[in-house]
Amino acid sequence: MLSEKEKANFLTKFPILEKITDLQPVTWLNPNKRNIASANLSLQLQDMKEAEARWQRFIPFFRLAFAEMKNTDGIIESPLRSIAQMKHALENKFSKEIEGNLYLKCDHELPIAGSIKARGGFYEVLHHAENLLQEAGLLNSPADYEKLAKGEYRSFFQSYSIGVGSTGNLGLSIGILSAKLGFNVSVYMSQDAKRWKKDLLREKGAIVHEFDGDFSEAIAAGRKETKANPNGYFVDDENSKHLFLGYSTAAFRLKKQLEEQGTQVSEEHPLFLYLPCGVGGAPGGITFGMKQIFGDAVHCFFVEPTHSPAVLIGLLTGEKEKVSVQDFGIDNLTEADGLAVGRPSSFASSFSEQLISGIYTIEDRLLFQLLALLADAEQTFVEPSATAGLIGPLKIQQTNYMEKNNINPKNVTHIVWSTGGSLVPERERKAFYEKGKNGDRAKTTR
Ligand SMILES: *Cc1c(COP(=O)(O)O)cnc(C)c1O
Repeated sequence: MLSEKEKANFLTKFPILEKITDLQPVTWLNPNKRNIASANLSLQLQDMKEAEARWQRFIPFFRLAFAEMKNTDGIIESPLRSIAQMKHALENKFSKEIEGNLYLKCDHELPIAGSIKARGGFYEVLHHAENLLQEAGLLNSPADYEKLAKGEYRSFFQSYSIGVGSTGNLGLSIGILSAKLGFNVSVYMSQDAKRWKKDLLREKGAIVHEFDGDFSEAIAAGRKETKANPNGYFVDDENSKHLFLGYSTAAFRLKKQLEEQGTQVSEEHPLFLYLPCGVGGAPGGITFGMKQIFGDAVHCFFVEPTHSPAVLIGLLTGEKEKVSVQDFGIDNLTEADGLAVGRPSSFASSFSEQLISGIYTIEDRLLFQLLALLADAEQTFVEPSATAGLIGPLKIQQTNYMEKNNINPKNVTHIVWSTGGSLVPERERKAFYEKGKNGDRAKTTR
């Protein structure tokens, strides 16, 4: 905990903290951003390549084990779509033109888990499963990966357990894949986790532990219980290199998608990415990956709820995982359950502090309005967390970022990362949509 004196010192040193603690939306540009050439990072392109090779080894497994993967290339990937209708809708709503092209990276459509957690979460489970099998001498040829899908190693995995703390989506991804492989899997859920996510996990064979506290408390309990078992493995969202690498490989596939669409990327024709942020692992891993491939031609912005600005406070003060939003009197209560995080990942923060261009915060009310707007404009449903990037281009246009970096706004390709939603049940979808619509009406009558 911070003392009152330390808190007061931070408030004097960083005046923007006043607005942040007052729960007002802010845009912060990172003064500590480095060029990729001068960044000091604990992972390299080679690590990403090895991670990608692991995904490739598991292609036969995914194709055989999951019906929805049967006629795919066996890689967990999502489409990149132009959202011209949404661009118009946003321009109308905010009475401002968006310069450049606007795309949606549709991770809400990622197979099996329906969220960005399919990248990091699946990857870490595969990494662990592969290690165990290798140590036991059970992985000798590519055909052994097919045996995995046929359940031939289920009894082997039954003597191992996996644990994870989650606000919902990470639990879904780890739970579904671990149970499929045959692990005993326990998911420690924070208070903000949605009922349907818990129900779905139980249906898939995971053990769900419910907590009254927030995400950090769920993680602490899960870590302790999982590690008490010598055969237990804990997926630690507050400090995981493997989750991070799993997210990073998105960059290889996005590069290909951009090429296929004929999008040129260079420092004169930069990419701007808008990434919803919880602990910072998913947006941090993607930022790291994209920077490895596109260098300084890619500019990454994170988005957090006004009630959960964990990474913003961590990077702004430089204290990273040592401070939480609660230390500054912020409640960490948001409907954006994927982003309901009070303390950032220490592993991811060591990258993000050097690589990201900035962070803006967004109010819950606007998340629902954007959800309804996207549904109307593009017939695309995403969960509230996943809409946070949609106002990114407008937010950054309002700063001096383009000028300072000599960027012609017309040359920018904006990619809004949509991070979850395809597993949300119909009833919840309707309720979210209605909330977005009513919010709009309430606004016009005020
Ligand atoms: C987890 C999640 C994020 C953010 O990922 P972090 O690694 O926690 O920063 C964003 N959107 C959704 C829907 C998520 O589930």
